[in-house]
Amino acid sequence: MRDSFQREIDYMRVSVTDRCNLRCAYCMPKEGIEKKSHVDILRDEEIVDIIKTAAATGVRKIRLTGGEPLVRKGIFDLIKRIRAVEGIEELVLTTNGILLKGRAKELKAAGIDRVNLSVDSLEEKTYRQIVRQDAHLDVESLIRELKAASLTPIKLNCVLLKGLNDDEIGDFIDLAARHDITVRFIELMPFHHEGFRYETHFLAKDDVLREHPELVFVKKERIAEYYAIEGKKGKIGFIDPVSHKFCSFCNRIRLTADGHLKTCLLSDKEFLVKGLEKVALQKRFEEAIRTKPPEHALEKGRERQKRTMNRIGG
Ligand code: SAM
Ligand code: SF4
Repeated sequence: MRDSFQREIDYMRVSVTDRCNLRCAYCMPKEGIEKKSHVDILRDEEIVDIIKTAAATGVRKIRLTGGEPLVRKGIFDLIKRIRAVEGIEELVLTTNGILLKGRAKELKAAGIDRVNLSVDSLEEKTYRQIVRQDAHLDVESLIRELKAASLTPIKLNCVLLKGLNDDEIGDFIDLAARHDITVRFIELMPFHHEGFRYETHFLAKDDVLREHPELVFVKKERIAEYYAIEGKKGKIGFIDPVSHKFCSFCNRIRLTADGHLKTCLLSDKEFLVKGLEKVALQKRFEEAIRTKPPEHALEKGRERQKRTMNRIGG
């Protein structure tokens, strides 16, 4: 279905949980989140029914996200059920990778086509400082495992964080070259938290490009710009919703784990879909898509968001 600005909405990001095994400083409060009762979180049947309605309105691609999607109980069964929904052509997953080790083949067999891996540091100490948990990720072996399971092409997403990981950008570029994968640098978006200052840590794409002349512009896609690494394999992407708006190409809607549709990541407007019967659900979808805002207004400044990012799904 097209929205009022003639954008074809064919992509839905589905947050299957707002819980997470990490506490990334820019995403989630250190003490975690208020635990929602299970009755407030969409059940498998509800998620599948909502995805069926989404497919009926023209959604063809689903991305599972969270919180951390792999912490949801029974996630592999849910993946199989979503895979079976008629009209869904692409099913992908965004994960921090912590629970992925040894399970890539199982994930592929359940029906996931590819994985976006979120990794903000390759240094153990910095990684722990950013994720604020005693966690360790063996990125190299995880990439090999994803390749062996044909969960490809792999995209590794890294949020640019001045003063935290800006000294590792060259290492991420080497990683992309060594494994012939795409590393995408994401500009930090202003979802404020106590104790984490957006203004202190924001690093713009143009600052990175100035420091890395080996990156050669190749193409601009819907939300990302891609660069080759001179004389090497691999690709570097930049996602910069803050300095360059891509709202006019936006084809996505979001389903939160507690059953709300969001048609713009940066707007607090939501449409409750949990508990609706088929006809009402279809109507709510159409209303949400029809009223999708033309663009965000980040540059005019914004209020503190009602939801933290782990409760939206990125
Ligand atoms: N837990 C999973 C993960 O980290 O991949 C999925 C959910 S997480 C909310 C999805 C993505 O959103 C991650 O790549 C994360 O780095 C990104 N993200 C979260 N908060 C962000 C922010 N304030 N600005 C930019 N990206 C953010
Ligand atoms: Fe968890 Fe992903 Fe948020 Fe990090 S970015 S706290 S891994 S939901």
